[in-house]
Amino acid sequence: MSWKDEEKYLRWLDAPLGIVPAEKESAYWAQVDAITEDAGQLLFPYVRDGRLIFVFPYCLDEQQEPYNTLDGLTLSPKDKSGPHGIGISDHALQQGDDYAMGVLLHELAHIDFDGYGHGQEFIRQFKGFLDRFNEATGRSIQDVTDWELERQLEAGDWSG
Ligand SMILES: [Zn+2]
Repeated sequence: MSWKDEEKYLRWLDAPLGIVPAEKESAYWAQVDAITEDAGQLLFPYVRDGRLIFVFPYCLDEQQEPYNTLDGLTLSPKDKSGPHGIGISDHALQQGDDYAMGVLLHELAHIDFDGYGHGQEFIRQFKGFLDRFNEATGRSIQDVTDWELERQLEAGDWSG
């Protein structure tokens, strides 16, 4: 999913650290760092061209309903031309690195995708990310998306 509200987006860019309780912060950040490094081959082109500037952990408990069950999010400027951020929830991180990688690849597909939402074209692109990553690494990362939840959120400020 991605966040289309520009003001909220800028606020998150300013203060992404505050959303993880201090006592858990370093462990979550270390795990996020390890996962993003593992995804390097797919990730670096987006880092290089300035579209992806950070990946961060966030706490589901800090989110309002119905977003407090959402494992990943992409912070995007409205026209998608500026820098993006990707959030991975504490819940996703607790499921292990493979699960969290599934979340990261979903969100990365949002950055690559020229548009919002979860239409057929997005899904095709996202599955392509999964296939490319698994082929390159010999891993078996699954699609962990809660598609029903994503569809429910499509109508609000949140989407993607
Ligand atoms: Zn999504």
